[in-house]
Amino acid sequence: MKAVAVVPGKKDSAHLRDVPVPKPGPGEALVRLTRVGLDGTDTEINAAFYGWAPRGEDFLILGHETCGRVEAVGAGVRDLRVGDCVVATVRRDCPQKCLNCASAENDNCLTGDYMERGIKQRHGMLAEYYVDEPRFIVPVPEEHEEVAVLLEPLTIAEKGVFQAFAAQKRMAWKPKSAVVLGVGPLGVLCAMVLRNMAIDTFAVGRGPLDPIRQEFLEAIGVPYLTSTEIPINELPKKLGRPLDFILEATGSSQVAFDAMQSLGINGVLCLMGVSGGHKRLEVPTDEINLDVVLGNKLIFGSVNANRKYFEMGIRHFGEFERRWPGLLRKFITKRVGMEGFMEGIQRDKAQLKVVVEVEG
Ligand code: BGC
Ligand code: ZN
Repeated sequence: MKAVAVVPGKKDSAHLRDVPVPKPGPGEALVRLTRVGLDGTDTEINAAFYGWAPRGEDFLILGHETCGRVEAVGAGVRDLRVGDCVVATVRRDCPQKCLNCASAENDNCLTGDYMERGIKQRHGMLAEYYVDEPRFIVPVPEEHEEVAVLLEPLTIAEKGVFQAFAAQKRMAWKPKSAVVLGVGPLGVLCAMVLRNMAIDTFAVGRGPLDPIRQEFLEAIGVPYLTSTEIPINELPKKLGRPLDFILEATGSSQVAFDAMQSLGINGVLCLMGVSGGHKRLEVPTDEINLDVVLGNKLIFGSVNANRKYFEMGIRHFGEFERRWPGLLRKFITKRVGMEGFMEGIQRDKAQLKVVVEVEG
């Protein structure tokens, strides 16, 4: 079968290759991919910023945002049926089976030895088929088939927002507004989750907004501010309110530290951006420490998502569709065939989501 792979550590090594069709063993399912989304992680793996081949191999198949159909199931599989529309989670448990991996939350793996399909030591799913255990394969109702490929990126937003509210149970907390930093796919999906909760949401990005994002943010009622005109620390004044809730989705450590210094009393800052570099900054540590302490502020990180957030995302697919009919489909701004994978790997800021149509 055809697959898109890289040689980890080698820059610009993405290529199409022929690999054997995997066979499902007992308790496993074989899934035929329909479409696979590409994101900044794929771009950064191809740039050799990170990415690890499975042990004993020298290549890594990419692809962690999927949608497919169950093609066959091995003996003993009960929860999946041939023909089901399904999406796979990304992380796989660490060999030590730490407390969190053993509790169906490998997104919070304690050892760091987790694996991630298409990223870290496990082949991804930008191929014609994959095999996996049913506990990592989430059935999606047929009515959401067209947008199911957006479920994995949506779960990253779901987890960040859910965890912020869970952590803020530490006090009485009703955020009047939220600020999302970054208007990449993750930032826009965070804004959708927040607007669906009827929270006033503002999006901040660098420079002027492209027409695709402009239409999208307008449709969900999210005003856009540019950090080139209004620096982050001037946002509270500009918006006329303290910042109760900030979601960082740019991956810039500079932006993350600016956000820390702009957070309001009792505010929460969720950091979700993966920064690939080695930037060093001089920051006013005494002031930051003092403000965080005296303001009871919370700064936390959030990565990946377990099955619970996939199920949450599926519920929200239905709510989004009722609130903004047809909008989520427009999130997929470009479709290419298997041969066109590079169009999704080369970062094109004007696109929201590039998807590879694996079939056909
Ligand atoms: C994926 C996550 C993954 C993270 C870090 C993201 O692109 O969506 O599932 O945990 O990269 O590797
Ligand atoms: Zn673990």
